[in-house]
Parts: sequence; C-alpha cells; structure tokens
Amino acid sequence: MFKPETIERFKGIETPFYYYNMDVLRQTLDACRDASAKHNFHVHYAMKANFNPKVVEAVQRYGFGADCVSGNEVKAAIAGGFDKGKVVFAGVGKSDKEINLALDADIFCFNVESIQELEIINELAQAKNKVAGVAIRINPNVDAHTHHFITTGLDENKFGINTWQLQDVAETLRKCTNLKFLGIHFHIGSQITDMEVYKNLCTRINDMQDWFENHGFAIKVLNAGGGLGVDYYNPDTNTIPDFESYFSVFRKFLRVKPGQEVHFELGRALVAQSASLISRVLYVKIGQKKNFLILDAGMTELMRPMLYQAYHSIENLSRKSEVGKSESPEDGASSQVLNYDVVGPICESTDCFRKDVELPESQRGDLIAVRTAGAYGEVMASNYNLRDAVPSVYSV
Ligand SMILES: *Cc1c(COP(=O)(O)O)cnc(C)c1O
Repeated sequence: MFKPETIERFKGIETPFYYYNMDVLRQTLDACRDASAKHNFHVHYAMKANFNPKVVEAVQRYGFGADCVSGNEVKAAIAGGFDKGKVVFAGVGKSDKEINLALDADIFCFNVESIQELEIINELAQAKNKVAGVAIRINPNVDAHTHHFITTGLDENKFGINTWQLQDVAETLRKCTNLKFLGIHFHIGSQITDMEVYKNLCTRINDMQDWFENHGFAIKVLNAGGGLGVDYYNPDTNTIPDFESYFSVFRKFLRVKPGQEVHFELGRALVAQSASLISRVLYVKIGQKKNFLILDAGMTELMRPMLYQAYHSIENLSRKSEVGKSESPEDGASSQVLNYDVVGPICESTDCFRKDVELPESQRGDLIAVRTAGAYGEVMASNYNLRDAVPSVYSV
C-alpha cells in the first residue's frame, strides 16, 4: 500500500526503479528475530536474495549470520558487517579461488555438495595450514510442493549429496585431516508455504543425524536451509511471513540434543515484501484479441515472471488499483476496468510480467507498481539490450 505522499514523490523520479519500504523490511526482520530467538535458533540471511548494500546494512544489524553462494557474496557479507564467524558458504560449484578466499576469511562453515568438493577443500586448507569447518549438504529427496523450477531437494536435482553416497562421505571425512565436521545441511527449495513439507524435512533430518551418529560422527549443527515463502497475492494484508509457525514446526518435530545448534538460511521471507518495481506505461495497445500495457521496465529489471512463471501483484498507482485491491488517490471511481497483458520493452516474447491483468483503463505515463519484488529482483537485473542499470529509491 503506497501512501499518497509516496506516490507524489514517485512522480518526480525517472522510471524504472526499485522502491524499498524500509519500515516493512525492519518489521519483517523484527518478527523473524523475535520468533527465532524464542527457540534459540540461528538465522543466516541468504545474501543472494538481495545484496543491495542498504538491505545488507539493515539485515546485519540484527546479528544474523550470512548464507553465501559465491566468493563475492562471502566478501560482500563480511564487508557489509556480518560476523565472519557466522558466514556459511554453499553452492554446487565453488571454484578453487572462491574456496581459498573463504579459507582466508576464516568463515564458519562450508556447506559441501559433493565428495570431490570435500577432497578439494581439504587439499586447499592443507596448503594454508588451516582447518575448514564443513557441513554435508544432503539431498533428502523431500518434495517441496513448490514450482518445479525452484525445487532443489529431489534426487534429480543437482544440489547436495544423495543419501546412497553417505558411506563414501564418511570415509572421506575420516581421511581428510584438514576438515572439521560440523554437521548436516539441507535446502529443499524456495517459496514453500506448506508447513507439512517442513515437517517431512524434520523427519529426514532426524534420520540423517542418526545415521551420522551411528557412524561415529558427532553433530553440532543441524542446518535446515531456507525456502519459507511469502504471499505474492496479498502484499498489503499478509505482509509479514508467519515465522512463528515456521519455527514452531522445527521446535516440535526436530530432535535436538543438548549442545546442538539449529540453523536456518532465510532469503525471500526476509526481504521480498520490502520492495516494488516502479515503472511507467510507455504505450497502450488496444487490440481485437488482446490489450497490451507496455511498460518502461521489463525482464532486465525483474526476471522472475519470465524465468519461472512467478506471480506478482500489479497495480496502477495513478488510477484506482487492481480490482478489489488497494485504493488510490486519483480519479479511481470513474475508470473502466480492462484486461491487459502487462509487458516490457525487451525484444523477447517472454518479456511479459503477466497476462490478463485486470486494471483500470490505463494511459501513457501512468505509474505501475509490480509488488513483492524485494527478493530475486534487483539482484537478477541485467543489461541485456544494453539497458541502464536499475536504480533504487528508499523510504526513510
Ligand atoms: C537460495 C538459498 C537459500 C535461501 O532461499 P530462500 O527461498 O530465499 O529462503 C538458502 N540456502 C541456500 C543453500 C540457498 O541456495
């Protein structure tokens, strides 16, 4: 929901841009901190969801750790204020350069995704006379019931180590003297809203910790990854994810022994609702079969709809907004509702935010907000078609 003065402010700014509502961001972070602190759970922020320096600055204030998936993210996390002793590094293809960088930075833990990677980290650590903390990322074959493009925990996914390889993992760990085994790591997908999925994950984590302990390995860290979803349909009425229910599932179903730590890696849930992509209508094409609203923003600014058919709420801020949703200050009442395919200017047919969007009759120059764009939005921007970099604007 945009205040009239915010929309007034937008009128003076060149589009497209990302608008960050820092209040929403802080309220979300407050809610997550409070809900996790109750159970003594450790939260790492998944940097890849949004590494905008202002966002990183806001998040690190909460004392969360950082979950990184590249060497540059490790660097950015530490430079941005995260404690290096709370940095974890995942990713199926860590290069030698990235591993060395993380070893030099003395991060907390590598979340290791293959046996070969274990051997390489051991080798590189040995060369530096260091001991690397490692957790084994296990692919638990749990169906996340999310879009198949963003599921990661099934046997056919490239991530993690499959359970039938654990015997080899154990042997490798025993012979790698420059590795310190810390625990087990899971991340089964993203935009997960069905809590039953996390209950199933707990069962698998319990099985896996039994397996390791039966094979002589003490487990300090149980890392359940991230993936908690947000409500893309109701950004104004369901803004803050239900962290209470999420963490309660783990409190209830995860077997945690004395001395063990439970870790999470949340990205989307912490930042998605804090930003919108703001653009203007360039042209309106009224056709016989289709009407098109052609925006000055496209897949180069926000790729999620084109990349994985993601839904985003779309509002015309200059008129009455998407039918039945929020109110707007200007001449709403009189306008007629039309059906538009809301598209971008990029020379690709997939450059469409959504088809058949019901919006008040719109005109060139109208301000359009694409909501819930704070996660996997700005960070996926590209300069395809030699587009300008997309700027960001912040509430105070
Ligand atoms: C992307 C990622 C996350 C965060 O996922 P969200 O769905 O944004 O919560 C956590 N852990 C790992 C290993 C990831 O790759």
